[in-house]
Amino acid sequence: MDIHKIREDFPILSRKVYGKPLIYLDNAATTQKPRLVIDSLVDEYYSVNANVHRGVHYLSQQATELHEGSRATVREFINARSTNEVIFTRGTTESINLIVSSFGEEFMQEGDEVILSVMEHHSNIVPWQLLAARKGIAIKVIPMNDKGELLLDEYEKLFSEKTKIVSVTQVSNVLGTVNPIKEMIATAHAHGVPFLVDAAQSIPHIKVDVQDLDADFLVFSAHKVYGPTGVGVLYGKEEWLDRMPPYQGGGEMIQHVSFEKTTFNELPFKFEAGTPDYIGTTGLAKALDYVTGIGIENIAAHEHELTAYAMQRMKEIPGLRIFGEAPHKSSVISFLMGDIHHFDMGTLLDRLGIAVRTGHHCAQPLMQRLGIEGTVRASLAIYNTKEEIDALVAGIERVSKMF
Ligand code: PMP
Repeated sequence: MDIHKIREDFPILSRKVYGKPLIYLDNAATTQKPRLVIDSLVDEYYSVNANVHRGVHYLSQQATELHEGSRATVREFINARSTNEVIFTRGTTESINLIVSSFGEEFMQEGDEVILSVMEHHSNIVPWQLLAARKGIAIKVIPMNDKGELLLDEYEKLFSEKTKIVSVTQVSNVLGTVNPIKEMIATAHAHGVPFLVDAAQSIPHIKVDVQDLDADFLVFSAHKVYGPTGVGVLYGKEEWLDRMPPYQGGGEMIQHVSFEKTTFNELPFKFEAGTPDYIGTTGLAKALDYVTGIGIENIAAHEHELTAYAMQRMKEIPGLRIFGEAPHKSSVISFLMGDIHHFDMGTLLDRLGIAVRTGHHCAQPLMQRLGIEGTVRASLAIYNTKEEIDALVAGIERVSKMF
């Protein structure tokens, strides 16, 4: 695999910031887009644009074919049984809100419980808290050890006859921990409880097969897997989605409307009120095709090697603390250097052209567990190189000398 050739697919990687070559290490926040994704967006606006599903005319039919073709691409990518199980949303956050709202409405009563983990992103905490305020449900939290691994014995103990759903991230956006999600799903199923997988941070890095995992729901965002912003996916087993009420009302999601009674459309449209981002979904399909073209196993191998190299080099820096040392770790490295504030480190690295994330990374409960306010986070993608890791290490050392 020629990384330098891959880099040429990403126009933004050749730009400079502050006169220095851009070193983009903020991929867990969003990935850069290959040219073919950007071109697909522009091309579709230039030559196909028309609203989908309703039109008799040529362009509308072509736009519909592209949009529904993208659904088929997503289905294949995650190995869903049917395109009925692939709902397009605006992103991971909306996908989770949809499930919480609709599943919570139908299947949860006061006193019922959801199990989350201590390393969840706010988007997999706050919607449940809103439901808790509305319906009086309770939230149980799986703890972790100091390496950043979930405690599976404790997880098992959290189940009760009130447990209605488990919702856990496959990969932590702060620690990089790859959770044993297949095993955790099997545990939930042994208790007769469905499982929602937050795959926002796993989809770009590892093979995700919803049937192999036996996930009941699985959600992700296009923009973190080389696709455009504003598009996300909710996978749900048809047997669940069929029994769940619509999330939002409007056009597209109905079969027949009268003031007396409205009937709803079949899956997947029942959950897709309003005009979808049909141009964004084409971009997502192009991005997934791009990933498939390189091979997710090749991406995983490259990122694994790079992460191991970065961990080894960073551990050699005196005074540097790494958060998240699970043996099964994705390409996310959170750290603090001595008593340098994470924001200062991030700002000074930025002046060297190195883009990292600083702060709580939308995981404040995890920060509380770690006893810190925030970290500096370097997160890697397919186009990152060892030279960029060397530049990061040199940058950290340079910044340290300033303090
Ligand atoms: N879950 C995880 C694990 C994430 O990393 C993120 C994004 N940082 C989200 C959910 C939310 O994704 P989005 O903002 O694209 O909806």
